[in-house]
Amino acid sequence: MKATVNEDCIGCGLCESTCNAVFTIGDEGVAVAIEEDVPEEAEDAAQEACDNCPVGAITVE
Ligand code: SF4
Repeated sequence: MKATVNEDCIGCGLCESTCNAVFTIGDEGVAVAIEEDVPEEAEDAAQEACDNCPVGAITVE
């Protein structure tokens, strides 16, 4: 599984709180996802972060 964040991110921080193994708020104040594959143990949380992002900026696939 890979996770990406697009330019719609508003930097609310929800994904970081839900799944900080994958998402962090970067220097520009918006979320960034790890470049590597999502660790297996973080997949459920990454999916939850995707489902709950208020602006639908996260893709996991
Ligand atoms: S939950 Fe969505 S809008 Fe909020 S920081 Fe994460 S990617 Fe950005």
